[in-house]
Amino acid sequence: MTSRLTVLAGPTAVGKGTVAAYIREHHPEVWLSVSATTRPARPGEVDGRHYHFVSGEDFADMVSKGEMLEWAVVHGRASYGTPRGPVEQALADGRLPLLEIDLQGARQVRAAMPEARFVFLAPPSWDDLVSRLVGRGTETEEERAVRLETAKVEMAAQGEFDAVVVNDEVRRAAEELVSLMRSPELDDKD
Ligand code: 5GP
Repeated sequence: MTSRLTVLAGPTAVGKGTVAAYIREHHPEVWLSVSATTRPARPGEVDGRHYHFVSGEDFADMVSKGEMLEWAVVHGRASYGTPRGPVEQALADGRLPLLEIDLQGARQVRAAMPEARFVFLAPPSWDDLVSRLVGRGTETEEERAVRLETAKVEMAAQGEFDAVVVNDEVRRAAEELVSLMRSPELDDKD
């Protein structure tokens, strides 16, 4: 039996990466796609586990060969993409495959695989999202303003998704997501 792909997207700084990290740690039955990216690795990130860290040239090569299921330039800084082959293999193997990607990518997956399940990770409130972005302290004032603008547009896309999970607490949100993934029919749209 082939399984169903789940795509997790949501606004910038909502904590998609943290939810994905929790799932990577606690739910080995979930197959988490490893994206390719042109951004440099951060301390603690392992090539092939958190991302495939590739050159711009290699990334462009993968795109031109049709090897990406979806790809996007995120925050105008680096390219990110989902290698297609491993996702298809995970589906064929009946695994529980999960992509943690940005909204542009989620829309491309919807076009390519409309049967996938799309889950929007939402902040408990707009103020909460703003304070997460400020609290993270990794961006300059100018970058933060750009990201907040992006986040506003991204929040407006909620209605495009099959389900919304509120990231009030990482563990709770991750467990809700995994149980959604395990109940193939419950949230189906006609
Ligand atoms: P970060 O650089 O902080 O790990 O990720 C930045 C953003 O890139 C996050 O919003 C994340 O969801 C998105 N992202 C990670 N991998 C992919 C991917 O393969 N495709 C797309 N479209 N976005 C991705």
